Amino acid sequence: MTQEIGGFAALGLHPNILAALTAVGYEEPSPIQSQAIPVILAGHDMIGQAQTGTGKTAAFALPLLSKIDTAKREPQVLILAPTRELALQVATAFETYSKQMPGLNVVAVYGGAPMGPQLKAIRQGAQVIVATPGRLVDHLRRDEKVLSTIQHLVLDEADEMLKLGFMDDLEVIFEAMPESRQSVLFSATLPHSIRAIAEKHLREPQHIKIAAKTQTVSRIEQAHLMIHADQKTNAVLRLLEVEDFDALIAFVRTKQATLDLASALEAKGYKAAALNGDIAQNQRERVIESLKDGRLDIVVATDVAARGIDVPRITHVFNVDMPYDPESYVHRIGRTGRAGRDGRALLLVTPRERRMLQVIERVTGQKVGEVKLPNAQQVLDARIKKLTNSLAPLVADAEASHGDLLDRLTTDIGCSPRALAAALLKKATNGQALDLATVEREQPLVPGAGGAPRERRERDGERSDRGGERGEFRERRAPVPLTEGRVRCRTALGTRDGIAAKNLLGAILNEGGLAREAIGRIQIRETFSLVELPEDGLDRLLGKLKDTRVAGKALKLRRYRED
Ligand code: ADP
Ligand code: MG
Repeated sequence: MTQEIGGFAALGLHPNILAALTAVGYEEPSPIQSQAIPVILAGHDMIGQAQTGTGKTAAFALPLLSKIDTAKREPQVLILAPTRELALQVATAFETYSKQMPGLNVVAVYGGAPMGPQLKAIRQGAQVIVATPGRLVDHLRRDEKVLSTIQHLVLDEADEMLKLGFMDDLEVIFEAMPESRQSVLFSATLPHSIRAIAEKHLREPQHIKIAAKTQTVSRIEQAHLMIHADQKTNAVLRLLEVEDFDALIAFVRTKQATLDLASALEAKGYKAAALNGDIAQNQRERVIESLKDGRLDIVVATDVAARGIDVPRITHVFNVDMPYDPESYVHRIGRTGRAGRDGRALLLVTPRERRMLQVIERVTGQKVGEVKLPNAQQVLDARIKKLTNSLAPLVADAEASHGDLLDRLTTDIGCSPRALAAALLKKATNGQALDLATVEREQPLVPGAGGAPRERRERDGERSDRGGERGEFRERRAPVPLTEGRVRCRTALGTRDGIAAKNLLGAILNEGGLAREAIGRIQIRETFSLVELPEDGLDRLLGKLKDTRVAGKALKLRRYRED
């Protein structure tokens, strides 16, 4: 507990990077990090296979930052990411982890923003380039030397890049880099196409796979809730209203998150405390004692800090942040259901973490059913039930002990017993909302502006991602959400022009030179059609299709603005 960065320090990272990690509050490396960091530091080529949310960014960013020579003001590290969002995320992570490395600069290179400033940042000596392949190729067209000093290459989410049709761009990029470079490839899956790339462009790569061992979970009722990351605190507050818990442990990833959530809970009147690696051993023991004897009901902890907690009162485990692997999920939820009691475990899942949920289900051999965020009516019912439960046991004796007082107060005030009882209720419930209209208006129930619809959008987006346009989602009349990195394009050709999806597909494949996976959903209507295409490199693609004709008519494909 005392040297909480120990896990990272043992990996041989640069001291300045360890200092930055302390500042962001990471306590220990995730499994992919402890395996990949030494391999990358040693300069090997590597293939890393792990799900989303397992901490891959730090797995390559930390060792590569340790290897950069900041005195050299030229590009040394290139990260390729499939979409602009992911590229920006990775660039931000590099900036965070290099806070204590003066002179280190990161540039993000992606389509949809002017090229000039990106090129300028590269020329001014950014050592790290994080790019989407399409835009990077555009830069190479202007200056074939941009990548001539790159010593380390990372393909992040390689499978996604291929799905978006970046195969040819990748080949161009590989050719523009020195052969002596180190190459690292991360992918959730390793289809044949990825293996082929690895075979061609990586040198004796070490293969790292976060294999999930089968785990057993018993007597614990499990459920998950789909939620957008910025709605987590509100979701926890709402769930706590309806969950009937005795003591509860909430798991988050960072120290800061333990503090933030614990204070949000305290502000709502819960007896909650944070537990993380910064907390001294004796204080930590006090927290656990308090949880045992009921002075505390909720502990918000990181995995490291919660190790070994055995408190039979714990009825609930909330996985507020996703665990890194199924094994740690099983450890976490094993904090409840102690001494043969039944426990309940809830898992918050953001859209991009859906796959990890599936892995957990597969490894534990159990379905983790979905729950919805409780609505105002359910919250109100739960509040009234709690009030009923707290008052019911008093009714039998209270009249004997306090009946005379009641008579006197009603006389003194000059009110009915009903009026007095109502006043006492008001006082006892401390301003808590106990009618539907007020509960509906309450802050946590309306998270942010239009919070609930947004959650729904995200969720549907993720599902259509998985190719699911099944009936259950159709019933909502919302427009079909796009996969990240794709945009919808429109042509004025439709069924009345004799167009079918296969004509459109054929034309785009042949003349646009895209891979089949790069093309998303195609919708053919009477007077127009829509097709989903990769955003990156879109202008170039539309350029190629400028003169394309389908069924004898000009295709004239244009980006379609939905709003
Ligand atoms: P992936 O690329 O595998 O999907 P990310 O690298 O985006 O995963 O990491 C997911 C989240 O986990 C990020 O919010 C990141 O800050 C956090 N994270 C990564 N490593 C650690 C760690 N060792 N301790 C705590 N949080 C971490
Ligand atoms: Mg990632």
